[in-house]
Amino acid sequence: MEDIKKYSSNPGKVKLLFVSKYFDVCQHKEIVKMGYNYFGENRAQLYRDKLNEIGNNGIKWDFIGRLQKNKIKYIIDSVNLIHSIDSYDLLLEINKKAAEHGKIVNGLLQINVSKEESKAGIYIDDFEKNYKKYFSQGNVKIIGFMTMAPFLATDCEIDSYFKKMQELREKFSKKYDYLTELSMGMSNDYKIALKNGTTIIRIGSKLFE
Ligand SMILES: *Cc1c(COP(=O)(O)O)cnc(C)c1O
Repeated sequence: MEDIKKYSSNPGKVKLLFVSKYFDVCQHKEIVKMGYNYFGENRAQLYRDKLNEIGNNGIKWDFIGRLQKNKIKYIIDSVNLIHSIDSYDLLLEINKKAAEHGKIVNGLLQINVSKEESKAGIYIDDFEKNYKKYFSQGNVKIIGFMTMAPFLATDCEIDSYFKKMQELREKFSKKYDYLTELSMGMSNDYKIALKNGTTIIRIGSKLFE
Protein backbone atom coordinates (compact mmCIF):
# COMPACT_ATOMS: atom_id res chain seq x y z
CA MET A 1 0.00 0.00 0.00
CA GLU A 2 1.63 3.13 -1.33
CA ASP A 3 -0.85 5.15 0.71
CA ILE A 4 0.77 4.17 4.00
CA LYS A 5 3.92 6.08 3.05
CA LYS A 6 1.92 8.91 1.59
CA TYR A 7 -0.35 9.65 4.54
CA SER A 8 1.33 8.35 7.70
CA SER A 9 3.97 10.33 9.53
CA ASN A 10 5.37 7.07 10.87
CA PRO A 11 4.85 4.48 8.10
CA GLY A 12 7.26 1.95 9.62
CA LYS A 13 4.83 1.51 12.52
CA VAL A 14 1.77 0.79 10.39
CA LYS A 15 0.53 -2.75 9.82
CA LEU A 16 -1.99 -3.72 7.17
CA LEU A 17 -4.48 -6.24 8.51
CA PHE A 18 -6.13 -8.21 5.73
CA VAL A 19 -9.79 -8.52 6.75
CA SER A 20 -10.52 -11.95 5.32
CA LYS A 21 -14.10 -12.39 6.53
CA TYR A 22 -15.51 -12.22 3.00
CA PHE A 23 -13.71 -15.41 1.96
CA ASP A 24 -14.49 -19.03 2.72
CA VAL A 25 -11.83 -21.55 3.72
CA CYS A 26 -11.16 -22.57 0.14
CA GLN A 27 -10.70 -19.03 -1.17
CA HIS A 28 -8.66 -18.19 1.87
CA LYS A 29 -6.12 -20.90 1.05
CA GLU A 30 -5.54 -19.25 -2.32
CA ILE A 31 -4.96 -15.91 -0.62
CA VAL A 32 -2.34 -17.51 1.63
CA LYS A 33 -0.59 -18.84 -1.48
CA MET A 34 -0.42 -15.27 -2.77
CA GLY A 35 1.79 -14.47 0.20
CA TYR A 36 -0.52 -12.68 2.65
CA ASN A 37 0.07 -13.70 6.26
CA TYR A 38 -1.77 -11.33 8.60
CA PHE A 39 -5.54 -11.79 8.78
CA GLY A 40 -8.53 -10.50 10.71
CA GLU A 41 -11.74 -12.46 11.17
CA ASN A 42 -14.97 -11.30 12.78
CA ARG A 43 -16.78 -14.59 13.42
CA ALA A 44 -15.47 -17.10 15.90
CA GLN A 45 -16.74 -20.14 14.02
CA LEU A 46 -15.21 -19.17 10.70
CA TYR A 47 -12.04 -18.25 12.56
CA ARG A 48 -11.95 -21.75 14.06
CA ASP A 49 -12.62 -23.49 10.73
CA LYS A 50 -9.88 -21.53 8.97
CA LEU A 51 -7.45 -22.17 11.81
CA ASN A 52 -8.12 -25.90 11.57
CA GLU A 53 -7.60 -25.94 7.80
CA ILE A 54 -4.83 -23.40 7.37
CA GLY A 55 -3.09 -23.30 10.74
CA ASN A 56 -0.88 -20.60 12.16
CA ASN A 57 2.49 -21.59 10.88
CA GLY A 58 3.89 -18.25 9.71
CA ILE A 59 0.41 -16.73 9.76
CA LYS A 60 -1.00 -14.33 12.31
CA TRP A 61 -4.73 -14.34 13.06
CA ASP A 62 -6.48 -11.43 14.74
CA PHE A 63 -10.06 -11.32 15.94
CA ILE A 64 -11.99 -8.14 15.13
CA GLY A 65 -15.69 -8.89 15.62
CA ARG A 66 -18.17 -9.01 18.43
CA LEU A 67 -17.07 -11.91 20.61
CA GLN A 68 -19.63 -13.99 22.46
CA LYS A 69 -18.40 -15.33 25.76
CA ASN A 70 -19.15 -18.94 24.89
CA LYS A 71 -16.98 -18.69 21.77
CA ILE A 72 -13.82 -17.35 23.37
CA LYS A 73 -12.60 -20.94 23.50
CA TYR A 74 -12.48 -21.09 19.68
CA ILE A 75 -9.86 -18.42 19.41
CA ILE A 76 -7.98 -18.25 22.69
CA ASP A 77 -5.17 -20.72 21.89
CA SER A 78 -4.16 -19.23 18.57
CA VAL A 79 -5.18 -15.59 18.43
CA ASN A 80 -2.46 -13.00 17.88
CA LEU A 81 -4.52 -9.98 18.96
CA ILE A 82 -8.16 -9.46 19.99
CA HIS A 83 -9.22 -6.02 18.72
CA SER A 84 -12.77 -6.07 19.99
CA ILE A 85 -12.78 -6.15 23.78
CA ASP A 86 -15.84 -3.93 24.10
CA SER A 87 -16.67 -4.19 27.80
CA TYR A 88 -15.05 -4.86 31.15
CA ASP A 89 -17.24 -7.92 31.50
CA LEU A 90 -15.88 -9.44 28.30
CA LEU A 91 -12.34 -8.64 29.39
CA LEU A 92 -12.88 -10.56 32.64
CA GLU A 93 -14.23 -13.54 30.74
CA ILE A 94 -11.34 -13.58 28.24
CA ASN A 95 -8.93 -13.31 31.14
CA LYS A 96 -10.54 -16.28 32.82
CA LYS A 97 -10.43 -18.42 29.68
CA ALA A 98 -6.83 -17.39 28.95
CA ALA A 99 -5.81 -18.42 32.47
CA GLU A 100 -7.52 -21.79 32.05
CA HIS A 101 -5.61 -22.35 28.81
CA GLY A 102 -2.31 -21.16 30.29
CA LYS A 103 -2.12 -18.21 27.88
CA ILE A 104 -1.36 -14.54 28.05
CA VAL A 105 -3.19 -12.86 25.18
CA ASN A 106 -2.80 -9.39 23.72
CA GLY A 107 -5.92 -7.29 23.42
CA LEU A 108 -7.22 -3.89 22.40
CA LEU A 109 -10.08 -2.06 24.08
CA GLN A 110 -12.78 -1.20 21.59
CA ILE A 111 -13.77 2.41 22.16
CA ASN A 112 -17.14 3.83 21.14
CA VAL A 113 -15.70 7.23 20.33
CA SER A 114 -18.90 8.69 18.86
CA LYS A 115 -21.17 7.31 21.60
CA GLU A 116 -23.48 5.87 18.98
CA GLU A 117 -25.96 3.71 20.81
CA SER A 118 -26.03 1.03 18.14
CA LYS A 119 -22.28 0.59 18.29
CA ALA A 120 -20.31 -1.62 20.63
CA GLY A 121 -17.51 -0.28 22.74
CA ILE A 122 -16.48 1.53 25.87
CA TYR A 123 -17.09 5.27 26.18
CA ILE A 124 -13.94 7.32 26.67
CA ASP A 125 -15.22 9.05 29.81
CA ASP A 126 -16.21 5.74 31.44
CA PHE A 127 -12.79 4.33 30.61
CA GLU A 128 -10.92 7.34 31.99
CA LYS A 129 -12.92 7.34 35.22
CA ASN A 130 -11.89 3.82 36.03
CA TYR A 131 -9.05 2.80 33.73
CA LYS A 132 -6.85 0.88 36.16
CA LYS A 133 -9.05 -2.18 36.29
CA TYR A 134 -8.50 -2.78 32.57
CA PHE A 135 -4.77 -3.09 33.09
CA SER A 136 -4.83 -5.34 36.11
CA GLN A 137 -5.74 -8.63 34.39
CA GLY A 138 -2.94 -11.15 34.61
CA ASN A 139 -3.75 -13.04 31.40
CA VAL A 140 -4.83 -10.25 29.06
CA LYS A 141 -2.39 -7.51 28.19
CA ILE A 142 -4.07 -4.38 26.83
CA ILE A 143 -1.67 -3.00 24.25
CA GLY A 144 -3.88 -0.35 22.66
CA PHE A 145 -7.26 0.78 21.43
CA MET A 146 -9.55 0.01 18.51
CA THR A 147 -12.39 2.05 17.09
CA MET A 148 -14.83 2.24 14.22
CA ALA A 149 -16.16 5.50 12.85
CA PRO A 150 -19.93 5.88 12.61
CA PHE A 151 -21.46 4.73 9.36
CA LEU A 152 -22.81 8.05 8.21
CA ALA A 153 -20.15 10.44 9.44
CA THR A 154 -18.51 13.02 7.18
CA ASP A 155 -14.75 12.94 6.62
CA CYS A 156 -14.48 15.96 8.89
CA GLU A 157 -16.33 14.20 11.72
CA ILE A 158 -14.29 11.02 11.25
CA ASP A 159 -11.13 13.11 11.44
CA SER A 160 -12.20 14.57 14.79
CA TYR A 161 -13.05 11.11 16.19
CA PHE A 162 -9.72 9.69 15.05
CA LYS A 163 -7.93 12.68 16.60
CA LYS A 164 -9.58 11.90 19.92
CA MET A 165 -8.35 8.33 19.66
CA GLN A 166 -4.81 9.47 18.95
CA GLU A 167 -4.92 11.71 22.03
CA LEU A 168 -6.23 8.83 24.13
CA ARG A 169 -3.45 6.54 22.97
CA GLU A 170 -0.80 9.18 23.64
CA LYS A 171 -2.13 9.91 27.10
CA PHE A 172 -2.25 6.28 28.19
CA SER A 173 1.00 5.22 26.56
CA LYS A 174 2.64 7.58 29.07
CA LYS A 175 1.14 5.53 31.90
CA TYR A 176 1.64 2.12 30.26
CA ASP A 177 4.65 2.04 27.97
CA TYR A 178 3.53 -1.18 26.26
CA LEU A 179 0.34 0.49 25.09
CA THR A 180 1.43 1.26 21.56
CA GLU A 181 -1.29 0.18 19.14
CA LEU A 182 -4.17 2.03 17.56
CA SER A 183 -6.43 -0.07 15.32
CA MET A 184 -8.50 2.28 13.19
CA GLY A 185 -9.22 2.82 9.53
CA MET A 186 -11.11 0.59 7.09
CA SER A 187 -11.49 0.68 3.31
CA ASN A 188 -13.37 3.96 3.27
CA ASP A 189 -11.54 5.89 5.99
CA TYR A 190 -8.01 4.49 6.26
CA LYS A 191 -6.41 7.63 4.80
CA ILE A 192 -7.92 9.74 7.59
CA ALA A 193 -6.73 7.13 10.09
CA LEU A 194 -3.18 7.21 8.69
CA LYS A 195 -3.04 10.98 9.17
CA ASN A 196 -4.07 10.46 12.80
CA GLY A 197 -1.46 8.00 13.93
CA THR A 198 -3.11 4.64 13.35
CA THR A 199 -0.83 1.60 13.65
CA ILE A 200 -3.19 -1.07 12.27
CA ILE A 201 -5.49 -0.46 9.33
CA ARG A 202 -8.14 -3.13 8.80
CA ILE A 203 -8.84 -3.45 5.11
CA GLY A 204 -11.33 -5.82 3.51
CA SER A 205 -13.29 -4.82 0.43
CA LYS A 206 -10.66 -2.46 -0.96
CA LEU A 207 -7.92 -5.10 -1.29
CA PHE A 208 -9.53 -6.88 -4.22
CA GLU A 209 -11.16 -4.11 -6.15
C1 LIG B 1 -15.42 -5.84 7.87
C2 LIG B 1 -14.60 -5.11 8.84
C3 LIG B 1 -13.53 -4.32 8.42
C4 LIG B 1 -13.16 -4.11 6.97
O1 LIG B 1 -14.13 -3.41 6.30
P1 LIG B 1 -13.94 -2.97 4.78
O2 LIG B 1 -14.85 -1.81 4.65
O3 LIG B 1 -14.35 -4.14 3.95
O4 LIG B 1 -12.53 -2.60 4.58
C5 LIG B 1 -12.77 -3.69 9.40
N1 LIG B 1 -13.04 -3.82 10.71
C6 LIG B 1 -14.06 -4.58 11.15
C7 LIG B 1 -14.30 -4.67 12.63
C8 LIG B 1 -14.88 -5.24 10.24
O5 LIG B 1 -15.90 -5.97 10.70
